[in-house]
Amino acid sequence: MTDACTVTVSASGVEAFRVDVGQTFRITDPEGGQVGDLFAFAAEDPEEWLSASHTRAAVSRLFPKPGEQFFTTRRRPILTFRQDHSPGRHDMLIAACDSARYVTLGQPGHASCARNLFTGLARCGIYPRAVPQPVNVFMDVLPGTTGDLTWTPASTSPGDFVAFEAAIDCVVVLSACPQDLAPVNHGGPTPLVVTLGNGASPQQPPAFDRVC
Ligand SMILES: [Zn+2]
Repeated sequence: MTDACTVTVSASGVEAFRVDVGQTFRITDPEGGQVGDLFAFAAEDPEEWLSASHTRAAVSRLFPKPGEQFFTTRRRPILTFRQDHSPGRHDMLIAACDSARYVTLGQPGHASCARNLFTGLARCGIYPRAVPQPVNVFMDVLPGTTGDLTWTPASTSPGDFVAFEAAIDCVVVLSACPQDLAPVNHGGPTPLVVTLGNGASPQQPPAFDRVC
């Protein structure tokens, strides 16, 4: 954490922070080409979390776009996608990288977004039983007409960002994806930056300073 309202997620690292209803947060890719695995859990009951599959059912889209909401396992809105200053590629299909994934890639013990999730939530006293499908911000996965998926390294430029507003009180976890063995990040891994806002606008001086 660099000051009261800005959190740097180190390269291959993780941060967890609480966002109350109406408050905003912005995720910036300062160097470009970096994917972030985004998770959100209801603060009142972490057994309820942002679900990509429930979101796809609610919005009838594979991938998120500004103005739409993300939904929980109990079909409640948890986050609203407020701004997108990026190429607009954000995946909701690909699982978080994990230990088994890196075993298959010949790098057992490699850092992973799944391990980062557990690390981040443990700082908040939360111990999930599973790893939800994340919203992979800046991750470029495109389905073809035959159903094949094409993976392209993240195309974000330095300073690109996305912004979200909490629809309920929630705990958010952001992992700066450590993937360096598959076409996910463009170079790197590199850090991400989270700016916690006061709800008026992510562009306004933030007033939110609670970080798990
Ligand atoms: Zn990852």
